[in-house]
Amino acid sequence: MHTKRIDKDLAALPLPPNMRDREAAWRGFSWDEARRGLSGLPGGGLNIAYEAVDRHALGERAGHTALRLLSADGRRRNIHYDELRRLSNRFANVLTSLGIGRGDRVFVLCGRRLELYLAVLGSFKAGAVVSPLFSAFGPEPIATRVQLGQGALLVTTASLYRRKVAAMRAQMPSLRHVLLVGDDDASANLSTPNEPGTLDLGQLMDKASDDFAIAPTRPDDPALLHFTSGTTGTPKGALHVHGAALTHYVTGQYALDLHPQDIYWCTADPGWVTGTSYGIIAPLLHGVTSIIDEAEFDAEHWYRILQEERVSVWYTAPTAIRMLMKAGPELAHQFHFPALRFIASVGEPLNPEAVWWGADVLGLPIHDNWWQTETGGIMIANTVAMPIKPGSMGKPLPGVEACIVRHQADRPIEVLSDAEAVGELALKAGWPSMFRRYLGQDERYRKCFSGELYLTGDLARRDADGYYWFVGRADDVIKSSGHLIGPFEVESALMEHPAVAEAAVIGKPDEMVGEVVKAFVSLKRGIEASEALRAELLGHARKRLGAAVAPKEIAFLPTLPRTRSGKIMRRLLKARELGLPEGDLSTLEEGA
Ligand code: ATP
Ligand code: MG
Repeated sequence: MHTKRIDKDLAALPLPPNMRDREAAWRGFSWDEARRGLSGLPGGGLNIAYEAVDRHALGERAGHTALRLLSADGRRRNIHYDELRRLSNRFANVLTSLGIGRGDRVFVLCGRRLELYLAVLGSFKAGAVVSPLFSAFGPEPIATRVQLGQGALLVTTASLYRRKVAAMRAQMPSLRHVLLVGDDDASANLSTPNEPGTLDLGQLMDKASDDFAIAPTRPDDPALLHFTSGTTGTPKGALHVHGAALTHYVTGQYALDLHPQDIYWCTADPGWVTGTSYGIIAPLLHGVTSIIDEAEFDAEHWYRILQEERVSVWYTAPTAIRMLMKAGPELAHQFHFPALRFIASVGEPLNPEAVWWGADVLGLPIHDNWWQTETGGIMIANTVAMPIKPGSMGKPLPGVEACIVRHQADRPIEVLSDAEAVGELALKAGWPSMFRRYLGQDERYRKCFSGELYLTGDLARRDADGYYWFVGRADDVIKSSGHLIGPFEVESALMEHPAVAEAAVIGKPDEMVGEVVKAFVSLKRGIEASEALRAELLGHARKRLGAAVAPKEIAFLPTLPRTRSGKIMRRLLKARELGLPEGDLSTLEEGA
C-alpha cells in the first residue's frame, strides 16, 4: 500500500542538487576521518565548548555572528564568536569562583535568552555537567529533576525563582548556589530573594575575567544531562559526554547540511535534547549563525522570522508543522522564503501530508529524521544525499548501523533481515553521542542493550531501498484480531482528510478482537465537529486502511494532549479513555 503511493509521490519531488556527489561522500565515511573535523583541546583532550566556540573565535570567524537573539519585545542582538568565547569564559570563571567544577551538576531554568547559552557553554568549559530544563515546568518537576541530578547550582531568572523555586528550596538540599538573571518582572527585582547562596549572576559576570583555562576534559567525561520527554512514562535522565560533539558535528553536516554562511534556526527549546544538541552545539560546531527566538509559537511570527532573518536551514518538529498547516496556506502565501534551502523535522513521525505541504506551501519538502534523547544525535534521516520518501524517517547516517530485530521476553534477539519485516529498531552501540547512563536506573540502562545492540523501544520496518519507516512505539502498538497495527499509519491516513488537523489513535480493549482502534481527532480551523463528519472520517479510514485496521470509534477534541517537546501523549488519552490513573504528567503542556 505504501509503496504504490510513494512511487507516485517520489516522481513529483525534486531531487537534491549534487545528490550523487553527496552520496559518494557518504560511502567514504569513517569516524576516524570525521574526527579531523574537530580540533581537540590544545594540549590534549576534548571539550564541546572549545570546539563550538573558541576554535572559531581564535580564527577567522571571530567576528562572525554566532547567535542572533530575538527578544519578545522585538529587540535583536548579535553575539559574535569572540564575544561568545569571552562571555562563556566569564561564566566558567563564576562557576570556578563558587567552587563548582569537574563533574558538578549545573541546572539551567530560563527561557531562550543569552544567559542560558552562556551557562551551557561555560559549564562545559568548567568541566561541569549541565542540564537545561524547560522554563515552563512547574515547581514539582523542577525539584524532582534537580534532586535526581544532585544539582549543585541552578541558574534561573528572578521571577522564575520567586514563582517556582523559592518554596521548593528545602527539597533540593544538594543545591549550593542559585544564580539569578535579572528579568523585566519589576516585582521580582534581584534583591528580593535575599537567601543564603542566592546571587546575582550579572554582578558576578561583570567582575569575572574574560580569560579562562578550559578544563582538560576527555571524550568520555560527562557533559550533559537530559531528561526524556515523558511520552511513555516517567522521564529518564540520560547522561551524555563531551565526545558527543563528534556526532553533533557529523550530523550537522550530513543530516542538516550546515555550511558556514548559513542562517540556521532550530525551533526546539533547550529543555529538550534537540534544543541543546541542535539548538546550541551542532550549529556552533559548524560556525554558523543561529537564530534564537524568545517568543512562543505563533504562525505569523514564525513566517516572519523565516522571511526577515533569511533563514537558510530550518530544523523544527511535526507539531509545529501541523500548527502551521492548521493556520492555512493563505497566511504562508503572504511571505516569501527565497533564502530557505533545507527543512528538517524531528520528534514524532512526520506524516506524508506534512512533507507535501512543505513542498507546496514553503517551496521545499520537509526532511524527516529520527533520534532519541538516548542517542544524543540524529541517527536516521532523509538527507541531501537521497530522494525523500514521504512518511519515511530516511536511512541510517554514515557511521550508524541500524537493524530491525525481534525482541521477545526470555528469547534471544533475532535480527530480521527481510525487507518490510516489522520489529524493534536497534542500533549497533558505540556511536560517539550514545548516552552513558540513566540516572539512578542502572538496571534499566543495562536492559537497553543486548550484545552489541542498543534497543530503541520503537517499532519500524526497512524497505528494499534501505529506508526506515516508523510503525509506532512498542508501547503504543495495537493488537486487533491478530493484526499488529501501528498508530502512525492510521493517524497519517486520517490526516489525509482535509478536515483533520491532528490525529492520535489508541487500542481499546475488546473481548472479541483483543483491541479496537479508537481515534482522537482535532479539526482544522473553522471546521465544526458533526455526526456526518464522523461518519465520513470513519468511511475514509476504512477505504484507505481496510476494515481490520481502520478506527471503529472517533472522538473529536479541540487539541490533543502533548508533551512540552510537542509529542502526542497517547498513554494519557488511553488512561482517560479507560478510567485509569493518568501517571506522570510532569511534561504535559498546559491546556491539554
Ligand atoms: P520517554 O522516553 O520519556 O517516553 P520520548 O521517547 O518521547 O519520552 P524523546 O527522547 O524526546 O523522549 O523522544 C524520542 C522518541 O520520539 C523516539 O523514540 C520516537 O518514538 C519518537 N521520534 C523522534 N523522532 C521521530 C521520527 N522522526 N519519527 C518517528 N518517531 C520519532
Ligand atoms: Mg523514549
